[in-house]
Amino acid sequence: MTRRAYFDHNATTAARREVVDAMLPFFRERFGNASSIHFFGQENREAIDAARASVASLLGGEPEEIIFTSGGTESDNIAIRGTARARRRVSKADRIVTSAIEHPAVLKTCEDLERDEGFRVEYVPCGRDGVLRLDLLERALAPGAALVTVMLANNETGVIQPVREICSLARPRGIPVHTDAVQGAGKIPVDVNDLGVDLLSISAHKFYGPKGIGALYVRRGTPIEAVYTGGSHECGLRPGTENIPGIVGLGEAARMSKRELPREMEHIRVLRDRLERGVLERVPDVEIAGAGSPRVPNTSNMVVRRVEGEALTLNLSMSGFAISSGSACASGASEPSYVLLALGFDGAASQGGIRVSLGFANTAEEVDAFLEIFPRVVERLRSLSPLA
Ligand SMILES: *Cc1c(COP(=O)(O)O)cnc(C)c1O
Repeated sequence: MTRRAYFDHNATTAARREVVDAMLPFFRERFGNASSIHFFGQENREAIDAARASVASLLGGEPEEIIFTSGGTESDNIAIRGTARARRRVSKADRIVTSAIEHPAVLKTCEDLERDEGFRVEYVPCGRDGVLRLDLLERALAPGAALVTVMLANNETGVIQPVREICSLARPRGIPVHTDAVQGAGKIPVDVNDLGVDLLSISAHKFYGPKGIGALYVRRGTPIEAVYTGGSHECGLRPGTENIPGIVGLGEAARMSKRELPREMEHIRVLRDRLERGVLERVPDVEIAGAGSPRVPNTSNMVVRRVEGEALTLNLSMSGFAISSGSACASGASEPSYVLLALGFDGAASQGGIRVSLGFANTAEEVDAFLEIFPRVVERLRSLSPLA
């Protein structure tokens, strides 16, 4: 296989060269523990402070409102568990309001709180357009709502959710709002004050930073209890010796993203539009999920009827294209995507979803090569398909 085109940037991205360069000294000579009062420690404390300022600058908050975590999953857990528990203790509110299309880091956390701690979870549906139904959300904000958690951009469809509108509904009622912005950061401008959110999760490896590091924005005054016990690192919300190389890498990824975002996203949007136009022209019975809605510029979820997304993904992999399918293979049979089901696609269609997610290093040549191969792969699979 000579060609290797990476079209799976919503799964992870390669760290930028600048990011890796910034990290390397912290694996070698700058190995100190930032809690040490000697120079090895204090110089690294300064590096952490600089990274915190960089993340705050990307997100629009104050550096003191940024907590470093091990990634998006942990940020979501700390935010949702910590705030739900704090709110119940103070106000007796015990209902968590979320959407049906959240990432498992949010969905499973909510399910766990319901099963083990007696919280109730309300899932606000979304429309066929992939956007959460604001009218139904407003009803869910009745007394007893402890917390709203709705993602900024969906990882499968790229559809942007009305988080700012959600905050203007929740704020007068005194209900904190968390957003999982893991698929927003680095793809669209994200500003905590513009959105009005109280808590916001990001993950470095989704925007050209290293894996295993992320951040949680916590607005000053937000009710939150510590989920972990240990030292006083990260305001006590994420105790443990800091992952300094990771934190420095996240800081650099944030700095680069802020600088490059407008240029890179325009390039990616042009490629994504070329890809979608090309596919729709060449392949019958394809629908782009959420195409008419505001979307992040890099993501295309193509619902290809009469094929299984997983088979398509494997065949494209053999042709040198890395994409992903929303459907997961459970015990040999492929499961439909819960996100496409939530949009109202039927079970068969929901098995035929593939996600192409582009990055700044992708080229028009790669997209054109994909457009050559893709119709042939679909045609072959359709001729063999049990779904035909
Ligand atoms: C990838 C992802 C996560 C998880 O982030 P990790 O850093 O891999 O734990 C959470 N939410 C969304 C929307 C994601 O896409």
